[in-house]
Amino acid sequence: MSHRLFSALAFVLLALNPAQGQTPDEPLTLVSRDARQPLPTVSFGGLRMVAVSELVLAFGLTVADDQQPGRLILTRDDQVVVLTVNEGLVSVSGRLVSLASPPVEYEGAWYVPIDFIGRTLPLVYNEAVDLRRRSGLVVLGDIRVPQVVGRYQRTESRQRLRLMISPATPHVIEEQPDQLLVQFEADALDLVLPDLATNDLIAGLRGIDSPPALAVDLRDTFGSFSATSEAAIGGATELVIDIRPRPTTVRAAPPPIPATPRPADPAVDPDLPALADLAPPRTIRAIAIDPGHGGDDVGTRGPNGTLEKEVTLDVARRLQTRIESELGLRVILTRTTDSTVALDERAAIANNNRADLFISLHTNASVRETAAGAEVFYLSLAEYSEEARRTEDGGQPLPTVGGGTRTLDIVPWEMAQLQHVYDSVRWAETVTDELSLRLPMSPRGLQRAPFRVLVGANMPAIVVEMGFISNPDQETQLTSATFQNAIVNGLLRGIIRYREEVARGMPLVGPPAPATAERPPSQRRLP
Ligand SMILES: [Zn+2]
Repeated sequence: MSHRLFSALAFVLLALNPAQGQTPDEPLTLVSRDARQPLPTVSFGGLRMVAVSELVLAFGLTVADDQQPGRLILTRDDQVVVLTVNEGLVSVSGRLVSLASPPVEYEGAWYVPIDFIGRTLPLVYNEAVDLRRRSGLVVLGDIRVPQVVGRYQRTESRQRLRLMISPATPHVIEEQPDQLLVQFEADALDLVLPDLATNDLIAGLRGIDSPPALAVDLRDTFGSFSATSEAAIGGATELVIDIRPRPTTVRAAPPPIPATPRPADPAVDPDLPALADLAPPRTIRAIAIDPGHGGDDVGTRGPNGTLEKEVTLDVARRLQTRIESELGLRVILTRTTDSTVALDERAAIANNNRADLFISLHTNASVRETAAGAEVFYLSLAEYSEEARRTEDGGQPLPTVGGGTRTLDIVPWEMAQLQHVYDSVRWAETVTDELSLRLPMSPRGLQRAPFRVLVGANMPAIVVEMGFISNPDQETQLTSATFQNAIVNGLLRGIIRYREEVARGMPLVGPPAPATAERPPSQRRLP
């Protein structure tokens, strides 16, 4: 037996028999209306436990006089709690409550797993007791302790903190010389903070107890911030804070930008007014919505028989109504009935009707039943630029886009999207942001893939996979008016934001940030 194997065995034995030893663990924090106090915990072979003596003090429990071996009786008022050693069930005045692991008696002291606090104490205590595992808070009484879960994203030009605040809680952001202070109208915060990668802009994130706040510590590279706050599903609010560095150098103005936007130097700060002023004013007047599949092509199918082609047409119709009535823009649907439309024809319909943005709606499917969440795609440039080179060299006569710019004339019709890939990235990012405020997103929310339907679109174009129809819960959601409206709200808000950026002279974006996932080849498909 090698030494390493022996160590592994020893560890397993320790884990199976927690009474082999204990080590101090991070304390929990008891939070009540007017006090915070630490509640020590210990680890028995990896199980996080709390001494019953600590709970007796904190919760006003009484240890009964008549104890038997292997048994501990606690009382509070007329409630009786009976713990039994090596028994994962606790009796609370005759009701049985299960625990994550049995109580442990060790050197004359009793210990219970920390879930005892959330499962058993609410039944005997005279106030609410709420264990928040992720932040290690034990909330006592009816006080306001919103959960604030942070996520962190970074792009070329800014760093973004997204704070999901549940339930929605009023808050203000105060800018101080070296920090942003997000203050909440609350008694405490149940704060779950993301890891910041090595960071030249944000020095750290910290919770502050009194008054409850999140401090974003800034480095001296900090330039400006902006924030938006919007309702999210489940009565939550999402606060999005964008933090930008101070521009360090002012570059010479770039040469005039041709009518067809080209990718900008990603090192140029997009917030520099000189660049924005030079961008030609453009407007968004018409939106093409492509309800995926239709007719003989049913698309994916849910376990209860819902068809992708039905969901995509429903959402497309809702979106059409809202765009026309609320934004007054022209809408082109690539199909309005349950009819078969070829993939290339869909882009052609959008092109012929001079749409300024293209949205192809789909639902996803996976063999993994639990797969869930929305995904947004733009065209994978690499695969198609390869093909573009081939067709240009071949000298074949190819159809061209009439009335386009000079650059467009040399680009085959079927390659029209090449002109717009960088705008499509921005369009996809905007939609991903807005959808993620309202819908569950897949872990890979924004991706690129060689979707054939996008290739011929002569405007910024995306595919939106609204959710996994193969997941029974998502199948139900995808057919519900609430969920469909959440999708429509996200897309509508995405159009508004993109249109505003275009009207301001949208900063041109470079190639996508490295964080963007490329769909692995084995999962590629061409809808
Ligand atoms: Zn599809």
